[in-house]
Amino acid sequence: MAEDKEQRYDPATIEPKWQQHWAADPALYAAEPNDSGKPKYYVLEMLPYPSGQLHMGHVRNYSIGDALARHMWMRGYNVLHPMGWDAFGLPAENAALKNNTPPREWTLGNVAAMKRQMQRLGLGYDWATEVTTCLPDYYRWNQWFFLRMYERGLAYRKKSKVNWCPECCTVLANEQVIDGRCWRHEDTIVEQRDLVQWFFRITAYAQELLGDLDKLDGWPEKVRTMQRNWIGRSEGTEVDFAVEGRSEKIRVFTTRVDTIFGATSVQLAPEHPLVTALAADDEGLKAQVGQLIAEQKAARASGDEGEVEKHGVPTGHFAINPYSGEMVPIWVANYVLMDYGTGAIMSVPGHDERDFDFATKYAIPIRRVIALSVPGADEPALPFVSEDGVLVNSGEYDGLSCAEATKKLQEVAALKGFGEAKITFRLKDWGVSRQRYWGTPIPMIHCDRDGLVPVPDDHLPVLLPAQVEITQQGGSPLGRVPDFVNVTCPKCGGPAKRETDTMDTFVDSSWYFYRYTDAKNSTAPFDPARVAYWFPIDQYIGGVEHAILHLIYSRFWTKVMRDLGLVKNDEPVRRLFTQGMVIKDGAKMSKSKGNVVSPDDMVARYGADATRMYALFAAPPDRDLDWQEDGVAGVSRFLGRVWRLTTKYAPVARSAAQTESQNGGAVAQKLLRKLHQTIAKITLDFEGRWHFNTCVAAIMELVNEMQAADAQLAAGDVPAPVVRELLRTLVLLLAPFAPFLSAELWAELGEQGSILRAPWPKSNPELAKEDEIEIPVQINGKLVTLIRVAAGTTSDAIEAAALADAKAQSRIAGKTVVKIIVVPGKAVNLVVK
Ligand SMILES: [Zn+2]
Ligand SMILES: [Zn+2]
Repeated sequence: MAEDKEQRYDPATIEPKWQQHWAADPALYAAEPNDSGKPKYYVLEMLPYPSGQLHMGHVRNYSIGDALARHMWMRGYNVLHPMGWDAFGLPAENAALKNNTPPREWTLGNVAAMKRQMQRLGLGYDWATEVTTCLPDYYRWNQWFFLRMYERGLAYRKKSKVNWCPECCTVLANEQVIDGRCWRHEDTIVEQRDLVQWFFRITAYAQELLGDLDKLDGWPEKVRTMQRNWIGRSEGTEVDFAVEGRSEKIRVFTTRVDTIFGATSVQLAPEHPLVTALAADDEGLKAQVGQLIAEQKAARASGDEGEVEKHGVPTGHFAINPYSGEMVPIWVANYVLMDYGTGAIMSVPGHDERDFDFATKYAIPIRRVIALSVPGADEPALPFVSEDGVLVNSGEYDGLSCAEATKKLQEVAALKGFGEAKITFRLKDWGVSRQRYWGTPIPMIHCDRDGLVPVPDDHLPVLLPAQVEITQQGGSPLGRVPDFVNVTCPKCGGPAKRETDTMDTFVDSSWYFYRYTDAKNSTAPFDPARVAYWFPIDQYIGGVEHAILHLIYSRFWTKVMRDLGLVKNDEPVRRLFTQGMVIKDGAKMSKSKGNVVSPDDMVARYGADATRMYALFAAPPDRDLDWQEDGVAGVSRFLGRVWRLTTKYAPVARSAAQTESQNGGAVAQKLLRKLHQTIAKITLDFEGRWHFNTCVAAIMELVNEMQAADAQLAAGDVPAPVVRELLRTLVLLLAPFAPFLSAELWAELGEQGSILRAPWPKSNPELAKEDEIEIPVQINGKLVTLIRVAAGTTSDAIEAAALADAKAQSRIAGKTVVKIIVVPGKAVNLVVK
């Protein structure tokens, strides 16, 4: 405890000093112009929602991105490393209700607070490119894009069943409904309502969104798989069944038209229009169908659609198979959904598990129409779902393989006009209407004479009115602001009304990263030349929870912008990294679990460097991190050792003028070897492995070796230029992980200028090479001894050394060596008899 205050590592003094220094020099973290002559590198962390407080998940995400950005600066790249705020959304309205603070004030206050936290953490962002999505200079371009999409038929209105969260009082996208509940309200069951809504036609890009996933080899495979499943392509056939005695036709979608001769019923969704028509003259059917509809709603609401017992009711009517002319009964079934496919299926119980169960339950005939391709073999039990077979009981198609039959049946359907080959997608159009206040107003006007009239470009932005009463009543709060609603129609000059829905906030995050390249542009969303220079994003880092929503919408937006001629890239992100979660006591940190660790507390206690470095050290970045405060304290103590070691020998380092190392004695050689091995390892990790936890561990080992040589260093046994190289490189290696301490020590070593502009050290393979290696000697498969030889020793010399070894000789004595196998640098195997 007698430690001199002067000798103590004190982040509370060092860190605020450098923070001020950096704030006064905005060029330090600024991107350079396109003609800087340097290669570009765009590294980006997902922008946060401004809740008012960073959490540890943020700290981890940003520590990874910041380490990479700093490394790339030191490698001589022109780096774009921006930050912004996903600032529209519901919590601002809830806070307004609770605290009577206007959403804008609450949001901008939170932005300021979180920006302070980020600066205190020493995150190297270019604040000149900051984007705040709730400000008109940004959201006007959401409106501009909306109008461009409207012109191209990519934005449209339709009445549809929507997911309604009674807690949010708004519509949710399908992606925002998780297990039948609201993504923001885990306890709230989502209801179904009919509303006229705005949609973006993302399905127009379904095939391209799917196909281009193959190009994204810098993305985690799990994210690509999630997107493939979400887009859900299936190839099949649509076929019309006529209805006996009526004019309607039933169009079914099937992926197995080759089994159509085995169809023994047709199943309709309870909400199918034909069902409504049939039930109109049949009270009994009407009641039963009503019950099926209620069941579907309940199942959808609880998220148990897959588990519900499958059942149905016969309508008493018949459909006619267009290929065979066979009449089959029409049923209404609770597992057929109106919004999937055509809302009608053919039931083939011989060759489909679900149809088999249903037919067994209701004694509907089960027929084999596919047999094994080997004639005379024992036929497998039904249902037989394989497509590796031939058709039987299928009239003129008998004997064809499933694939041949499918092709032929599709041709016949097209020729005769009762069907066609069809590709369907699970992906639905993106519902963007929200009945909320705190979002981008949709720039459309409703005129009694002209219908829908777009707001002209020169009237943008449609500003969100400032003073709006926010209630939890249904309908958009904007509808209660007469000054907003009542406008003059731009087309006829008569009175008209504004659209009062606002846009889903995922619109904001679909293109924000383009705006960073040109954040101040007031005449266009961005300058295409700047985007052409910076895109695609070289490295994007964020949570895997965005794999479906944000990362599909932003890919769609990029393709739309490409088709508008604004960008040349097909995809926004070249490499994607999804970091693990931060957990504590076995659970994800959350307020409700009471296990939240505040970054501010950690910074106050241990410093920003220790907090950041711990977030990188405690687990590989892609794995979950179990937060242990002891671990932060340990990293802080380590940084203290670095500080003491460096300040102690800084005068020696400063006294060495020239840069090249002298050959010192054995101790110097050993330290230099460790140093160059550490450089090689960390450089390799930054190039893609990203094992930052082992990088930090390698720096710790290096410092251990230097401390172990303290006596020799103190005695001057290590030449001053070597001391200089050791300390200088140690500080350079630390710079991406602990920016404050490295800036401080860089100055302490007498270096001028920012360490961020100092070249990243290069590993010298000669110095890194182990001068002696240990090679195991085995006799008849058993380890007998280890021999030490110089690295690079020839096989002959290794063989000689093994035979000369005393232990080996004692085992060989009296026997004959029949075989010697030398694995160069690895092992010697002797076989003796
Ligand atoms: Zn909700
Ligand atoms: Zn008009």
